[in-house]
Amino acid sequence: MHDANGSNPTASINVGWDTYVRSRRSSSDAHLVGGVPDYAFALDCNLRQKLNAMPGFKQLARAVMSTYLPRVKQQINMNYLKVGPTQMPEVYQIAVDCARRLGIGVPEVFIENNTSMNAGAYAIEDDAPLITITTGMLERATPGELKACIGHECGHIHNNHTLYTCLIELLADAGSTLPGVGALASLASIPFQLALDSWSRAAEVTADRAGMICSDSIDDNYTLQAKLMSGGVLGENAYDVQAILRQYDTLRETPIRFLEARSTHPTSARRIIAEHEFANSEVLYGWRPEWRTTNMNLLSKTELDERCKRYINIKKSKERGGGR
Ligand SMILES: [Zn+2]
Repeated sequence: MHDANGSNPTASINVGWDTYVRSRRSSSDAHLVGGVPDYAFALDCNLRQKLNAMPGFKQLARAVMSTYLPRVKQQINMNYLKVGPTQMPEVYQIAVDCARRLGIGVPEVFIENNTSMNAGAYAIEDDAPLITITTGMLERATPGELKACIGHECGHIHNNHTLYTCLIELLADAGSTLPGVGALASLASIPFQLALDSWSRAAEVTADRAGMICSDSIDDNYTLQAKLMSGGVLGENAYDVQAILRQYDTLRETPIRFLEARSTHPTSARRIIAEHEFANSEVLYGWRPEWRTTNMNLLSKTELDERCKRYINIKKSKERGGGR
């Protein structure tokens, strides 16, 4: 593009990497509150503080993970297909876009030959992060839904969730012979496991918010959740989010909901409701001001988290559509 004088108006703009990194850092720093991303669900932070406060627990988890994660990463590198600028570049570009949006380093991305729709993030706090995506996800998610999915995994990395999410995965691997796992497992009494699972469900709400911040369209996040319930085999236009939300109305009143206490993820209907709340919050439009329209009556961060807490709560779930 050239102006009326024939000179290129962008010629004087510094496009160097250092300048880019500095500008990203300052824009993402603007979204940190006390070192924590401003979109993080308060319940996630509160429950994690409780886990961190258990004497010796975080140190033990770090020690075990420093042995476990390198082994997992080697196995991933051995068996999964790594995407990059020359191999599945469109998937790689989505990861680059999501990482830049959140202001984190671009994670390595690998494709797992697995027909279920799934994805995962692996990292210890200061370690190079890695994301896996199944072929089932690639086949059935639209490019927009894939962006919501990869954004969600980047959110786990951005919020340093992976130390404990990988720990949950390891504890589920009963046959592990890694040193230290026995000590961790002995800590893993039922109340402890319930506490870990309850934190994990709150952490998923935080990561879903990251997925929304990174996505091209808010609706992609809802249809991704719907596809996670059905396996995505029915194609486009098969999902009615309102019908899924009515499933929540049934769920919140039945005692069977207590089975969720041992789930690491909230049910998809709860997640969609929490996403609806985030779509109506000041925090989202702080990240995506271009989505803002006039006359929006947005929730404050405190109101947002209070409402989500009551939707995620298994014992006493909030009635849907309640006022402020
Ligand atoms: Zn997740």
